[in-house]
Amino acid sequence: MTRWLPASAGDRVRWAAVAVLAIVAVSIPPVANWYEDFTLGDFSSKFAIFLASSAVVLALWAMSYNLMLGYTGMVSFAHAAYFGIGAYVVALGSKHFHLPVLEALVLSPVIGAAFGLVSGIIALRAARLYFSLLTLAISQVLFAIAYQWYSFTGGDNGVHGLDIPDAISTYAPQYFFVLGVTVFCVLLMYGLVRSPWGAALLAIRENRERARSIGINVKRYEVSVYTIAAAFAAVAGGLFAIVQQYAQPEMLYWTENATPVVITLLGGLGTFLGPAVGALIYVVLQQYITTSSTFKLYFDITLGVIVLAIVLAAPGGLVSLPALFMRLRGRFRRGEPDQAVAESRGEAIRMLDVQKAVLAEAIHAAELETGAGLLKLEGVSKRFGGLRAVEDVSLEVRQGDRHAIIGPNGAGKSTLFNLITGRLKPSSGRIWFEGREITGKPVHSIARAGIGRAFQITSIFPRLTVRENLQYAMLAHRGLTARPFGIASRIFRDEAMTLLEAVGLGAYADLPAGQLSHGDQRAIELAISLALGSKLILLDEPTAGMSPFETQKAMELVRRIATERKLTLLFSEHDMEVVFGTARTVTVMHQGRILVQGTPEQVRRNPEVQKVYLGELDVEEFSA
Ligand code: ADP
Ligand code: MG
Repeated sequence: MTRWLPASAGDRVRWAAVAVLAIVAVSIPPVANWYEDFTLGDFSSKFAIFLASSAVVLALWAMSYNLMLGYTGMVSFAHAAYFGIGAYVVALGSKHFHLPVLEALVLSPVIGAAFGLVSGIIALRAARLYFSLLTLAISQVLFAIAYQWYSFTGGDNGVHGLDIPDAISTYAPQYFFVLGVTVFCVLLMYGLVRSPWGAALLAIRENRERARSIGINVKRYEVSVYTIAAAFAAVAGGLFAIVQQYAQPEMLYWTENATPVVITLLGGLGTFLGPAVGALIYVVLQQYITTSSTFKLYFDITLGVIVLAIVLAAPGGLVSLPALFMRLRGRFRRGEPDQAVAESRGEAIRMLDVQKAVLAEAIHAAELETGAGLLKLEGVSKRFGGLRAVEDVSLEVRQGDRHAIIGPNGAGKSTLFNLITGRLKPSSGRIWFEGREITGKPVHSIARAGIGRAFQITSIFPRLTVRENLQYAMLAHRGLTARPFGIASRIFRDEAMTLLEAVGLGAYADLPAGQLSHGDQRAIELAISLALGSKLILLDEPTAGMSPFETQKAMELVRRIATERKLTLLFSEHDMEVVFGTARTVTVMHQGRILVQGTPEQVRRNPEVQKVYLGELDVEEFSA
């Protein structure tokens, strides 16, 4: 039954680490008891188990923080507030409302999520840096409430002395209870990050702009992860109140957010179990430093130096050490360079099956009829200050057409594409797609409506594998990323493979996309736009930066896939050979305006066009 064994060496190391962590977690109380007997009472097992409970609570808190920081890159200063709120729910529930502790603990994520949702919606109205500042403000407001509302929260005294049920009032049972709740939460989080919903988060972290253009509503996912992280933080806070028997306003203070960040950095940012390992180390370190006569007074400095050393030595945190070690060992043994880098030398595009391309061309010739209007622009303009980048452009792209927009540099081609895809809002004019107006709609809804794009500057998800790049695009475009269950990397696996084979990238499916050569990354860029299965595909200088040979191959590929999948193409291009070899309609832009439009033949013969291009191109090339 080898199917059940983890596939790669990395996976095996990971699962071994999980097993070790689980064994350590479960054996702490019995080992502590045994050690107490062994030292004849010099060592307090109660205290050790109490520390272990604190470490587990910290681990859950840090993992909830990492859900945001590691998976979407959001830096929040309000996360401690949700942790504190969770603690207050349990403490106040027990004190004021005679709510059994366990019921209050179930309530804590609900209340934490409610606070998270409201403040998340407010904070996420702002862009990155301002988001962090807004969370800081929110955190201060929540802190002030906890600190000053004496009659309810007890003000700066906090709430002390909870009614802990007998079953979990002694150390070892309490530890196992805390561990059980934490493991349950961790499994839920693990399910989430592997689901299509988690895939959307990763896509956002890797490349926000690209994530939008494959149809992901970035803001909505950010609000949802913020809310969910707040809910888990509140559970951690509730557990904290049970273990420590108090809730205090200081817990909500914004500087408290340093703890989960430090833990995450220690363990490994963006790795799922990193914070758990980090929390363990943190508690041990803290205990050691505060009881050591030398370092006691310098807790923050000592901790800071240790964190700095670890981050510099192993940027991926402690959990990256085994992988780092394995790679070093592998290199040492074979003396080979990183295999991935050596593998991709931009060969993919060259290896394309020309035979197939020619065949597809023949099919295409039979289907030359273009259909009804698919995309329509009416008087679209875009001004940047005084500059008229696009001026009064009216244009129709018909179903099944291969429509080229050409023009010298600065003619407004990229701007026009950004207007169509929603990245820029037109200053005036209107745009319709399939008869529905899309003027000024957000990027992700236009993408979902059926307009895919490849960027002029390669824009992919560098740390995801090549296959995942396509799988996630397919998930997002078909609206499946809202699913919080299932395993994202198993959905559309075959479809993605088929497409990768078609673009000649099959051999690199499992490599991180960012490790491929420029030419191959360009092919991924194209493949993403094709993976979307959009009706209309916008390619902004798809062959930018490619050699003439690669250009020819890439365009063969585009033509073939456009034909096979019955796509409509709207592309801009600098290279005239590419234009006349691929386009069936050509629009020439000059200084933001449309100069001429027609078949390649008509455009080629147009004297005005020749004039515009005279400065830029060989006349020979043009009239060839
Ligand atoms: P093309 O893609 O045809 O080379 P662009 O659409 O990139 O042309 O640019 C058209 C004009 O608009 C250029 O003069 C460019 O400098 C200007 N432009 C493009 N984007 C911006 C922007 N974000 N802000 C200001 N000016 C811009
Ligand atoms: Mg451009």
